[in-house]
Amino acid sequence: MTEDYRKIELIMSLRNQGIRDQRILEAIERTPREMFLGPSFQPMAYADQALPIACGQTISQPYVVAFMTDRLKLNDRCKVLEIGTGSGYQTAILSPLCRRVYTIERYRTLAKEAGERFKALGLSNVTQMVGDGHKGWPKLAPFDRIIVTAAAAEVPQALGDQLAVGGIMIIPLQSGPMSQELVRITRDERGLAHERLLPVRFVPLVEGIARES
Ligand code: SAH
Repeated sequence: MTEDYRKIELIMSLRNQGIRDQRILEAIERTPREMFLGPSFQPMAYADQALPIACGQTISQPYVVAFMTDRLKLNDRCKVLEIGTGSGYQTAILSPLCRRVYTIERYRTLAKEAGERFKALGLSNVTQMVGDGHKGWPKLAPFDRIIVTAAAAEVPQALGDQLAVGGIMIIPLQSGPMSQELVRITRDERGLAHERLLPVRFVPLVEGIARES
């Protein structure tokens, strides 16, 4: 099977699973997922599954990327904060759908490789930082949308504080010793509201910047 054919199959499968937003499907169609993977995993780039990347982390499953993006309800005025750049794949899907993406990663190696991909793909509205996503990016707050791609025990205080009124945050939260669920947090004048969306499995959100040899 050719790569193009696999890609079309993936898009059809996402549509069948309820992802109907044409802009999201187009962003996925236009983004070469193989670019975000090491050589040995490139043949699996269009399988709907999470795959290993450097530093013991994972690139999210395309369905989960599409689902999270869909539930963020993005428009071209949105200023988005992403926690957990990883390979940069989710960032690349967000980029054409919003005004600007600010993305934070705790591994310098991953951030650097992702940055090279953003450059190669001409994603000019992405700004990166190596840091601890628990703290958010206070200088640039508030954010219209926040997406967290690593699982936390609870919503980090700083991220709740940095969400704009009328804003949406999508975050995987630990719901039991072995279970996580994707949660949508919205802010109105009275405070934050939580809504459970989907059982998921993400790598953990870890405190502090990673030490690398
Ligand atoms: N969205 C990524 C998924 C990467 S996995 C992709 O599409 O490839 C989650 C990422 O979150 C990992 O790279 C991990 O290093 C990062 N991460 C975990 N805790 C973090 C923290 N406190 N701050 C910033 N990044 C963090």
